[in-house]
Amino acid sequence: RVADILEASSNPREAVVLSACRGVTDALLGLVTLAEQPDGYIASAIEQMKRRHEELAAELLSRSAYEAYRALLNKDCRDIAGVLQTVRLIRAATDSMRDVISGYGEIWSTRLFASFLRERGRIPGEVLWIDARQVVVVEWGPLGPAVQWSASERNLRQLVSKDFQGRLIVTGFVATTTTGIQTTLGRNGSDFSGSIFGALLDASEIIIWTDVDGVLSADPRLVPNAQVIDQLSYNEAMELAYFGAKVIHPQTMEPAVARDIPIYIRNTFAPQKHGTLICAHPVSALKVKGITTIDPVALVNLEGAGMIGVPGTAHRLFGALRDAGISVILISQGSSEHSICFAIPQAQAVRAEEAVRCAFDAELRDGQIQHVEVGLGLSILAVVGDGMAGAHGIAAKVFNSLGNAAISVRAIAQGASERNISLVVDGKFAAKALRAVHAAFYLSPNTLSIGLIGPGTVGRVLLAQIASQVERLRALNLDLRVRGIAGSARMLLEEGAIDLELWPQRLADAGEALDLDKFVAHCQADYIPHTVIIDCTASAEVAGNYRDWLARGIHVVTPNKKANSGPLPAYHALKEAARAAGTHYLYEA
Ligand code: ASP
Ligand code: MG
Repeated sequence: RVADILEASSNPREAVVLSACRGVTDALLGLVTLAEQPDGYIASAIEQMKRRHEELAAELLSRSAYEAYRALLNKDCRDIAGVLQTVRLIRAATDSMRDVISGYGEIWSTRLFASFLRERGRIPGEVLWIDARQVVVVEWGPLGPAVQWSASERNLRQLVSKDFQGRLIVTGFVATTTTGIQTTLGRNGSDFSGSIFGALLDASEIIIWTDVDGVLSADPRLVPNAQVIDQLSYNEAMELAYFGAKVIHPQTMEPAVARDIPIYIRNTFAPQKHGTLICAHPVSALKVKGITTIDPVALVNLEGAGMIGVPGTAHRLFGALRDAGISVILISQGSSEHSICFAIPQAQAVRAEEAVRCAFDAELRDGQIQHVEVGLGLSILAVVGDGMAGAHGIAAKVFNSLGNAAISVRAIAQGASERNISLVVDGKFAAKALRAVHAAFYLSPNTLSIGLIGPGTVGRVLLAQIASQVERLRALNLDLRVRGIAGSARMLLEEGAIDLELWPQRLADAGEALDLDKFVAHCQADYIPHTVIIDCTASAEVAGNYRDWLARGIHVVTPNKKANSGPLPAYHALKEAARAAGTHYLYEA
């Protein structure tokens, strides 16, 4: 698949940085841990890994290339066994031993791929294997590995001439220290390797091939409607990366940002898709790009009349947190200066409270500061987008959607860059808040989740009518999604929307036993702004649920006369439920 992707490109020069085969780095590190124990069969664990690579090579390479690959692999495994023997003797591995061993996965994957690509022979020019340990020089500091650019560039020039034509196949993850000792770029460092080589080679673009379609507007596990963001600025990508959109690490972006090289995030398993472009000046109509949550967080609130107009309170507060080694995620202070609050990872709440109480011990005793409160179990919701700067109505939309979802906001922060609105909500409501805000920006407010009960004479015709109008209505900003169809014994539920041409077949093939509660719960997906249940039965039992549905915020549409022809108090109760919940009850077909 990777070779296909490469062969489809018409660039005369490309470099490909590969990580290890899946799970190999973990397995290699596992070997080191195993060797630190007195027992444990190192030999058989090495053998297993060797066999896996041999099998891959046997499948992909010709006999002679396979033999050559195997000879090198065998030698590496003997070397690994030697290092592990030392580890076993002293019962503790050093960091550099760990680095040496964990880097073999990339050596093996790239050697295999380079051989494979060469043998396929479908790309003009040379296929050159590059061992990144001979190129990338880094110095490990408290902020991670710092690339020594000029030394690395010199090294690369010695291996690759300026007019090289063809493909470079480069090991990800591994590097060398300034003292010439083998090291790595940290776990999942191959993306970083990619971007380092992009910078060293002065590439016109960097593509990160991953297993998702791109950077998503929200976590798809929480928001099934999350969409691939077409374009992002470097800053937006940094903001989203920070807030847990794990697709690209800020460290990976850095070499590209410094040289203004665009980065694409694309899916190896769906190369026809465009993916996400991350660059300096994206053209995109979207003001809000992504919405994410971070949790669990704690909110610490320092409150007291004694702080008003007194300079230096914030300095002392955050100084105390710095001394305690606590990094603050969000800060907010109202202009009255009566209180100041900040959010931190929940795991650090106890230490933070201690640090703050200790710093303001005297003021707390004298009553100049009344209290230090800590709220636990909270989430931060962040709304990110460069386009919010100078635009109006964005914050209004955010808070409106939260208000409509009955979620209360505990604290708010927006920097002057206007690139990020962050707010703190109760952790219990984090997913709901995320969906509500996502729906406000990514879905039309007029998106309807529809469940139809009783696809008989009337129901069938209605479904056909919806099918014939759905496109036209979408152009008018009304998005009808029939997500559930329930017959008398079976029902069909679909996450996106049921194909209204094929539903009878789908109901027969993919339907399940009718469960009305499950049906209604599915139709009322809380990431879609509105839910409508259409009852096309003549059943009194189904009609008996209207009141409950209306009270739960579900609109009811029906030609069924049962609810309107029973006892008057029941009818009044039903109308009252609709009025209280603000839902529609529409009958007479
Ligand atoms: N193989 C390395 C790791 O698993 C680097 C990578 O996968 O990006 O951490
Ligand atoms: Mg990996």
